[in-house]
Formats: sequence, structure tokens, C-alpha cells
Amino acid sequence: MLILECPYCGVACDETELSAGGEAHLKRFGPDSSEEDFEGYLFVRENPKGVHFERWRHSYGCGKWFHAARCTMTLEVFGTYSAQTFEPPKELSDKISAKRPGWSWRDFA
Ligand SMILES: [Zn+2]
Repeated sequence: MLILECPYCGVACDETELSAGGEAHLKRFGPDSSEEDFEGYLFVRENPKGVHFERWRHSYGCGKWFHAARCTMTLEVFGTYSAQTFEPPKELSDKISAKRPGWSWRDFA
């Protein structure tokens, strides 16, 4: 079972209390952008075997959205953090690097 700690209320929640929101840190493109950028925003997603960043909502708790970093192979959770950021916190990236040397995900490493 996946257990994530909500960074806002500090509660360790199992996945039945949460709603998955897909991939984190998407760069949004509107309909006035190029066809390729708009298509990529709507349909292209990462599907890594390893470190991944996701959006989750504490639906049956505080109701807020947050981001989580976890491994898709082992379900190990590296950490959770506020959704109001453009990239993962440095201390979280360092923690992942210590456990998974050489990892990268999009522009993050
Ligand atoms: Zn919460």
C-alpha cells in the first residue's frame, strides 16, 4: 500500500484517502501555443521505471494538492512537498541522489 505524508497537515495517509492527479511539474501550454507544444501538454507523459514526480490531493483530509517523489519500481517514497513550486526542493533532490545515483527526470537531477 502506498502511504504518503501530506506536507500541509502532516498526516500519513494511505492511498484510499488520496486522489491521484497525474504527473507533477507539467509546463502548461494554451490553445494559442504551437500544435506540438499543446499536444505535448495534453497527451505526452513520462512513464519512468524509477524516480517519478506526481501530484496528489489529500481528498479525505485537508483537501490540498501536493507533490510526491517516489520510485515506480519499489514504491519507495522519497518525500512530499508543496504543489506551489516549479521544481522539487533541493534537499529532496539530494536525498534521491544519495539513494539513486545518476537519476534524472525531465530537467531535474
Ligand atoms: Zn492534508
